[in-house]
Amino acid sequence: MNGVLVLMEQRGGKWNRMSFEALAAGQQLAAKLGAECSAAVIGEGADTLAAELAAKKLAKIFTVQHPLLQTYTSDGYVAAFEQLLKQADPTYVLLPHTYQVRDFAPALATRFRQVLISDVIAVHDGPVFVRQLLQGKLNADYKSAGTGPCFVSVQAGTFRAEAVEAGTATGTAITANFTPQLEANQIRSKPGEPFREAAQTVDLSAARLIVSVGRGIGEQENIGIVEELAKALGAELAASRPICDNGWLPMERQVGSSGQTVSPKLYLAIGISGAIQHLVGMKGSKTVIAINKDENAPIFEVADYGVVGDLFEIVPALTKAVLAAKN
Ligand code: FAD
Repeated sequence: MNGVLVLMEQRGGKWNRMSFEALAAGQQLAAKLGAECSAAVIGEGADTLAAELAAKKLAKIFTVQHPLLQTYTSDGYVAAFEQLLKQADPTYVLLPHTYQVRDFAPALATRFRQVLISDVIAVHDGPVFVRQLLQGKLNADYKSAGTGPCFVSVQAGTFRAEAVEAGTATGTAITANFTPQLEANQIRSKPGEPFREAAQTVDLSAARLIVSVGRGIGEQENIGIVEELAKALGAELAASRPICDNGWLPMERQVGSSGQTVSPKLYLAIGISGAIQHLVGMKGSKTVIAINKDENAPIFEVADYGVVGDLFEIVPALTKAVLAAKN
């Protein structure tokens, strides 16, 4: 096959939205290489999901199914994908940089004596893959060496899911069913409860609207005013690190290099200075609005709209205006 193969992630018949970001990356890489892009879906419900992919610009869609793949295990996925890749023989394997991919993809790459070029934020001609080092202070360029396929995972928000190209009416993708040879004794681990499904966790990476609060809020008691704005907008509430370090909001709401990476349609940064560790987590947002009383705050460098002023005046007025517009 050669070309690019994107390993799409799903759970319980539902796509992980980042899969489509990886698919957009795969299509763009294939275009750079003058090659074809294909996709693979693994696990229960793969058939139905593969049918959805038929409308995309893809050469081939592989469904990888086996009774031992009903629940995710690193061993199962590594063994199944190893067999698929040996048969499909792609030059590049692209994956979304999800928790699951972090779990199995390095082991899969090792089966081919390769490494995973992980959490990539850009793909340049060459192809050259860009990763961030030292908490986002440095960008480093990586090129694949060796003969095996090159494994790359892409950071959330780097590519836009909406950028996935549709197929043409004449060129419909071919779907191929792939059944790997798996034995129960190959699966050494027993899956526990998935991390994201634990009580009270929030998946900010899937949020369309985010209202994020920083140290400018001053006190925990003041967070309510930002919470009201989030509620009025139907947005998820997020925060910079000091807010979570202080225990004012749970850690799962932290955005940044040591928190979640988000890519909403709208990111409203309130009283957040825009430190690099925060920016790396939200720079994939489509539109950024910043409210800060310091006109020189670095957040304004990434903001599409900036409001210089006191959040204690602006936020309640904004909430009032949003509620008035709704009624
Ligand atoms: P500050 O930098 O204190 O900014 C507060 C802002 O509020 C200021 O710009 C101020 O002008 C404004 N302000 C104050 N009062 C008002 C008001 N009344 N109205 C309007 N504006 C007002 N940070 C993260 O966010 N996420 C991470 O994942 C993360 N990971 C890190 C990892 C490492 C290894 C390290 C070293 C740091 C990390 N940080 C992270 C911390 C980061 O460096 C910053 O310290 C942090 O982002 C600052 O948060 P802040 O913008 O809320 O606070």
